[in-house]
Amino acid sequence: MPLPEPCTRTLAERVVTWQKQAGRHHLPWQHTQDPYRVWLSEIMLQQTQVSTVLGYYQRFLERFPSVLDLAAADQDEVMPYWAGLGYYARARNLHRCAREVAEQWNGHFPPTAAELATLPGIGRSTACAIAAFCYGERSPIMDGNVKRVFTRYFGIYGQTQKKAVENVLWDKAEQAVALSRADLDMAAYTQGLMDLGSQCCTRSKPTCSVCPLQADCYAHTHQAQAELPSPKVRTRQNERYCHVLVLEQDGQLLLEQRPDTGIWGGLHTLPQFDDEQQLHVAAQRWSAQEPVALASFQHVFSHFRLHITPWLLQSDAPVLAEPAARQNWLALDALPQAALPAPIRKLLDGLYAPDSNAQLTLAEHP
Ligand code: SF4
Repeated sequence: MPLPEPCTRTLAERVVTWQKQAGRHHLPWQHTQDPYRVWLSEIMLQQTQVSTVLGYYQRFLERFPSVLDLAAADQDEVMPYWAGLGYYARARNLHRCAREVAEQWNGHFPPTAAELATLPGIGRSTACAIAAFCYGERSPIMDGNVKRVFTRYFGIYGQTQKKAVENVLWDKAEQAVALSRADLDMAAYTQGLMDLGSQCCTRSKPTCSVCPLQADCYAHTHQAQAELPSPKVRTRQNERYCHVLVLEQDGQLLLEQRPDTGIWGGLHTLPQFDDEQQLHVAAQRWSAQEPVALASFQHVFSHFRLHITPWLLQSDAPVLAEPAARQNWLALDALPQAALPAPIRKLLDGLYAPDSNAQLTLAEHP
């Protein structure tokens, strides 16, 4: 008997039927066609799990209920609502995008995927998802979950970040929509692909027995689930080291705002030094007392591991120097509202709010 071959013509309708029966229906960004809310959820969900996003999404919308509220805020007001989510360039682009919508589009998100993709921080797949959810546009998506489903279903080998492989995946995605019924429920299809990737066609243990694509899936037919998607070539983890100064005086802490670009861009953090000697030279500018080393800890970024050694300097006397550019004193009781990177938040909560339940984000990204 010939082996079954993937049937692109029926793929979308099977996914829609499955989504309506077994997909997710109670996420706070579902059941809305407000592009602001959908856009916000799509940006927050990039590289971040749903369970992490839920709390951030709610708090963000309470503070910035519309795109105009977000556009009217300063970037400094936005960062505390993102701190801990990682990939801080996303927050900066979010803010730039809101301003562009306010200024160039009269406060309304553009009405097509092609125009949405011209806005800061909105890539092709995100633009297509917003257009599918909000306008019913027949615009297919291709995010990480969909790449996993499609490489397995169609049997597409090669690393998915390679342009040639990505082009094949986009072609398949476009065919699946083009060959489906004219009245395809695009919101259910788009959500269905996301749900399938996160609930069923998971990275390590896909549950093929309940998958709507099982009958003609290449990976299932050839028992190739473990080899698709083709694994990335692993580069050795890069190790980096730094020292940070926790300078406390008279109920205040010295913080420094990072430049807008690079790691933790725009966030407030502790003064940071490449080596111990630089830290001691800086500490002497502030106080005649010696800083005390605390336990080192690590923080994992996408491309390297940062080993951080904190030094505590609790100055009894008034400090000897003025804050440099981008440095400022923050009252300890204002720490909970500060836009701090996750590992610095964890460190300071450990020192000043030991009962806090703050969780360290284990893998963070510039
Ligand atoms: S049958 Fe299995 S491998 Fe194929 S798409 Fe479904 S869950 Fe993924």
